[in-house]
Amino acid sequence: MTNQTQIGLMSHEELVSEHERQTASYAQLKTEKLTLDLTRGKPSPEQLDLSAALLTLPGDGDFRDGNGTDTRNYGGLTGLPELRAIFGELLGIPVENLLAGNNASLEIMHDNVVFALLHGTPDSPRPWSQEEKVKFLCPAPGYDRHFGITETYGIEMIPVPMRPDGPDVGVISELVANDPQIKGLWAVPNYSNPTGAVYSEEVTRALASMPTAAPDFRLFWDNAYAVHPLVGETAPSLDILGMAAEAGNPNRPLVFASTSKITFAGAGVSFFGSSTANLAWYQKYLGKKSIGPDKLNQLRHLRFFGDAEGVRAHMEKHREILAPKFALVLKILEDRLGASKVASWTEPKGGYFISLDVVEGTAKRVIALAKDAGIALTAAGSAFPYGVDPEDKNIRLAPSFPSMEDLDKSMNGVATCVLLAATESRLD
Ligand code: PLP
Repeated sequence: MTNQTQIGLMSHEELVSEHERQTASYAQLKTEKLTLDLTRGKPSPEQLDLSAALLTLPGDGDFRDGNGTDTRNYGGLTGLPELRAIFGELLGIPVENLLAGNNASLEIMHDNVVFALLHGTPDSPRPWSQEEKVKFLCPAPGYDRHFGITETYGIEMIPVPMRPDGPDVGVISELVANDPQIKGLWAVPNYSNPTGAVYSEEVTRALASMPTAAPDFRLFWDNAYAVHPLVGETAPSLDILGMAAEAGNPNRPLVFASTSKITFAGAGVSFFGSSTANLAWYQKYLGKKSIGPDKLNQLRHLRFFGDAEGVRAHMEKHREILAPKFALVLKILEDRLGASKVASWTEPKGGYFISLDVVEGTAKRVIALAKDAGIALTAAGSAFPYGVDPEDKNIRLAPSFPSMEDLDKSMNGVATCVLLAATESRLD
């Protein structure tokens, strides 16, 4: 199995024989004819089963919420108040500052970008599309679908280094203070995709309060993993709206969340939290594209959870399924790659991903080797703006969907590919 010597310290002869060993392991791996997939940050069928009761809720004759609203009918753009209260408590957002929407928070993020481009925000001198150029800061590695939105609309993306306590605020403050074309920043504050980083209070406060050259700078604060711990304690959702208001920037944060990885991914409920002015602005345009959200699905979720404690208890069941999968991936990484020092990885305390860094210049090669051995990994560079990882070293691992048995096989296969690519690159 793995040679337990640091590959970087090997003599040429040792390296040649290590390369031969890894080539043989890889040839063996290929004979297994695997078809495994580590690309998808999706809940497993077992996790989806935890919410099976939703399929029969709200149940015969139950269609009114606590205010007597008939959820079968049109209207109610803000979403059901009782469900907003539950998620307001979990996200640390007052119920009047939180809307409940349809099945995808990504859609709300997209709409916020598009409405700002077409109409400008409440603080914009003109629509963003009438600016000579619009730029967004993109902590990287980050979430590819965020970058997909800004790329699609021709917004220039500037990568910013990601740290364990959030993005580099030194770099960010400097950039936003001097460049009025920077209108936004993508952020996943809790258990970030893909590194698992949790933004510290210091970083969060700095982002909320830093002076910006653009009067309409926005934090796209995607709290997708707010209640998704892998350990006993959940990182708190910091009061970004309060911090920004206190600093005189009440309209800066746009907070997003959803139940996609709580109940059903694709049939959950999304949330949007922001200042009164931003919510009024958003609803002005939202009201043109929809008469109201799917309140029946919201009522179903309300009945299913009951209260915020119900959500926490439900997330504990997810944790019981997910934590062993993450532990298995981390164990294989340590056992197979720990001593040879050809890789480093994050050890997230929540969320859906592990970020693996391999020898610089070999991520594409590792992914190609894995593909040829029947193991699908997320495309190289996908966690970076424009899909370009400047160091070609980052690989996003998604342990949630495969079974434990498949995870074991695929991660051992990935480790073989990492070692083979590392010896190849050292011999080059
Ligand atoms: N935000 C992040 C950071 C994600 O990782 C994901 C899904 O992987 C989403 C948003 C998608 O959210 P939704 O299903 O609510 O559109």
